[in-house]
Amino acid sequence: PRPLTGKVALVTGGSRGIGEATALRLAADGAAVALTYQSRQDKAGQVVKEIERGGGQAWAVRADSGAAEAVRASVTGTVERFGRLDILVNNAGIGVLGPFEEISLEDVDRVLRTNVRGPFLAAQAAAAHLAEGGRIISIGSCMAERVAFPGGTLYATSKAALTGLTRTLAKELGPRGITANLITPGPIDTDMNPADGESATMQAGLTALGVYGRAWDVAATVAHLAGEGGRYITGASIAVDGGFAA
Ligand code: NDP
Repeated sequence: PRPLTGKVALVTGGSRGIGEATALRLAADGAAVALTYQSRQDKAGQVVKEIERGGGQAWAVRADSGAAEAVRASVTGTVERFGRLDILVNNAGIGVLGPFEEISLEDVDRVLRTNVRGPFLAAQAAAAHLAEGGRIISIGSCMAERVAFPGGTLYATSKAALTGLTRTLAKELGPRGITANLITPGPIDTDMNPADGESATMQAGLTALGVYGRAWDVAATVAHLAGEGGRYITGASIAVDGGFAA
C-alpha cells in the first residue's frame, strides 16, 4: 500500500504553487486531500480533477485564511467529507515586500491575518480532530531564517511567528502523539516568486546551489514529514532552500 493510504489531509492554498504540488503529492501517496483556495476556483478544480483522474479522492473549498469562520469551516468540512483528519498543511500565505516605513496598516493586518492568524486557527480547529499520529506542517520562509536583503520586515515577521507556533504546538500536542513542524523554503518557482521574475537572478545567487527550487521539492519534504519517516520529528524547522540560509 502507498504510505498515506487511509489518511486524510487538508492543504491550505492548494490551488496553485507549493500547495498544489503538496496536494498532488499527498494524493499520490494515497491520502484523501481537501484543499482550500481564496479566489482561483478554476485552479482548485483542476487540482481536484487531476487527483481524481489518478484514482484519488479530493475536495476543494473556498476559505480565505484571513477569515476565521471560513478557516474553521474548512476543517470541519474536511472531517464531514472524509470522516477524519490526519494531516494539516498550513501553506496559504501572501508576501508584501517593501521599505519598512512604507508598509501600510492595511498590509500589516492583511498579512498577519493570512500568514499568522489563519495557520493558528487552522491548527486549533484541526487539533480537535487529530488523533495519535496526526501531523501539523506549516510553510514558513527562508526570509525569516536569514536576512539577505532589505524589504522583508512584514513578511519575515509573519513567517517567524510560525516558528513559535510550531515549537509550542510540538510541546503541547506531543503527549497526544501529534507532531508539528515547519518547512522554510528558499526561492521556489511559483506565481508568487517566478524564476524569471525581476529579482530572480539575485535570489538564486543567494542560495548555495545557485538555482530556484520547484514546488515539488517542498512537497517531497511535506510528504516525508506526513509519513512514517516523520514519526520522531517534531518542533523542527527544516530548510528546503538550496542553501539560502547556510
Ligand atoms: P502562490 O502565490 O503561487 O500560491 C498561493 C496559494 O495560496 C494559492 O493557492 C492561493 O489561492 C492561496 N492563497 C493565497 N492567499 C490566500 C488566502 N487568504 N486564503 C486562502 N488561500 C490563499 O504562492 P506559493 O506557492 O509560492 O507560496 C506558498 C507558501 O509558501 C506561502 O506561505 C509562501 O509565503 C511560502 N513561500 C514561498 C516561497 C517562494 O519562493 N515561492 C518561498 C518561501 C515561502 P488562489 O489560487 O485562490 O489565489
